[in-house]
Amino acid sequence: MAADRKIPAPGVNPETEPFWAAAREGRFLIKGCTNCGRNHWYPRAVCPHCLSEKTEWRPASGTGEIYSLSVMKRAPEPYVMAYVTLAEGPTMMTNIVDCDFDALKIGQKVKLVFKPTEGDGPPFPMFTPA
Ligand SMILES: [Zn+2]
Repeated sequence: MAADRKIPAPGVNPETEPFWAAAREGRFLIKGCTNCGRNHWYPRAVCPHCLSEKTEWRPASGTGEIYSLSVMKRAPEPYVMAYVTLAEGPTMMTNIVDCDFDALKIGQKVKLVFKPTEGDGPPFPMFTPA
């Protein structure tokens, strides 16, 4: 198992501020659209599916499955970049952590873990095998 990498504090802007505030409380939010009904990631004020501004924050389960992954073995501390498809629909770019990287498979079930970031930044959403 690789040592935990240092994670820079994420940039917080007005569009994503509620997400990070919830993350500090251990809650995982995504955005959904009340016009077309679809959820999206990353959080945006305007729905990327139908361009409606009728988006709202929705609690998400934090469960999903690996859509694709690559193990970054040449990094000083190897890590896994992955796309995870959430149970709620959207696919997000993330890291898979706290596991044997070589044993990971496409389609594997994963669950969200919030990882601390540097300074006093909000925790960052990552995933680990479920
Ligand atoms: Zn929409």
